[in-house]
Amino acid sequence: MYAEVLRRNPGEREFHQAVHEVLESLAVVLGRHSEYAEMKTIERICEPERQIIFRVPWQDDSGEVQINRGFRVEFNSALGPYKGGLRFHPSVNLGIVKFLGFEQIFKNALTGMPIGGGKGGSDFDPKGRSDAEVMRFCQSFMTELYRHIGEYTDVPAGDIGVGAREIGYLFGQYKRITNRYESGVLTGKGLGWGGALVRTEATGYGAAFFAEAMMEARGESFDGTRVVISGSGNVAVHGIEKVHQLGGTAVACSDSSGYVVDEKGIDLEVLKQVKEVERGRIADYADRVGSASFVAGGSIWDVPCDVAMPSATQNELDGEAAQVLARNGCRYVVEGANMPATPEAVDAFRAAGIVFAPGKAANAGGVATSALEMQQNASRDRWTFEHSEAKLAEIMRGIHARCHETAEEYGSPGDLVLGANVAGFLEVAEAVHAHGLI
Ligand code: NDP
Repeated sequence: MYAEVLRRNPGEREFHQAVHEVLESLAVVLGRHSEYAEMKTIERICEPERQIIFRVPWQDDSGEVQINRGFRVEFNSALGPYKGGLRFHPSVNLGIVKFLGFEQIFKNALTGMPIGGGKGGSDFDPKGRSDAEVMRFCQSFMTELYRHIGEYTDVPAGDIGVGAREIGYLFGQYKRITNRYESGVLTGKGLGWGGALVRTEATGYGAAFFAEAMMEARGESFDGTRVVISGSGNVAVHGIEKVHQLGGTAVACSDSSGYVVDEKGIDLEVLKQVKEVERGRIADYADRVGSASFVAGGSIWDVPCDVAMPSATQNELDGEAAQVLARNGCRYVVEGANMPATPEAVDAFRAAGIVFAPGKAANAGGVATSALEMQQNASRDRWTFEHSEAKLAEIMRGIHARCHETAEEYGSPGDLVLGANVAGFLEVAEAVHAHGLI
């Protein structure tokens, strides 16, 4: 099966990696479900239902014409409308979008909500662009995307480089073209126009809740732990916030230029000011906080910790970094980002007895809360922060329990990678099977 995926999708390294990791877990399933082998259910799930690639022309502030490429991969709609974020980053290509879309299928299934899997984005780099440029780009992007999405078809959200500002411009253009105030077409909206409380915080908070559940299963808690969280975007900032509330201390975070260490614990107010308000660099944090130091480049995983939460991007934590974490006494690794640990890193965690949570389980809080946003939009309702956060915590504990129990049931107790892949797959496969050969 894997050889066929390689042959049909040449050069898509990250997609191959994501498929390989899932396939490795599924041998145990085929032994119990021969119908999935007969109906080529896995092969069908590996092939996206639809892949859209389009030109995105726009003009920058100096009047120069710019051309980017837009993507939307509608991977699987067995459980509900395609659901998954949009990423704006120069590294975006079809292989990256497909890896993210493939992961999203199983992640969304694990939430237990009625959402299929998809992902999209562009190689547009919002960094250093003015608001007006970002707006023109978003309008051009939506001018093609609008015909492929809708509240019952495909519901995009944010990801790297796409936050509330971008979702606002995208929503505005969708409304203008379609003449429909269709709140349910995008999630991650502003609170005043259909957004849901806790959606912004959900991925980082959810990853921390998941980590807490992992620790509880081993008679531990966040109390007194040192935590290292890479990145300083949406996931990292809110991960840090929740870790602090749960009794841990996040002592380091990063961006693509380097990392900061603050032994007193990252000061969230300063971090939010630097990264969210000023859209500055992480080095600015160290300039303002006396107890902090900035390390240009380097590996944030050199900082000793009990819990590591990679929350920046794919393949940011390799085998060597994993060995360093193990030597420094790290006991838990929880993926806030999508596939941040390389396969070599995951092997090293297993060998060292580090408990490891894959992103498709640990960072599912974002999409789960997006589904709650869709529920609120459909019923024109608005829930309180406390109610939504309690739901998120319950969902994350539920996902942990499912992964944990499935790993035991399929003969690999404690292996949350296998647990997540098998539990997610079974949910999707049953629906795919029920819908016949489509
Ligand atoms: P943001 O754009 O808000 O932040 C991304 C952070 O990661 C920034 O600090 C950025 O630094 C850093 N980063 C990005 N690319 C690289 C790179 N190549 N090398 C080093 N650092 C990098 O994104 P999010 O926080 O939303 O997303 C982070 C991860 O979490 C992604 O893997 C995403 O797919 C995943 N995720 C996000 C969800 C969400 O709800 N937002 C939901 C589930 C998963 P810099 O500014 O220097 O580029």
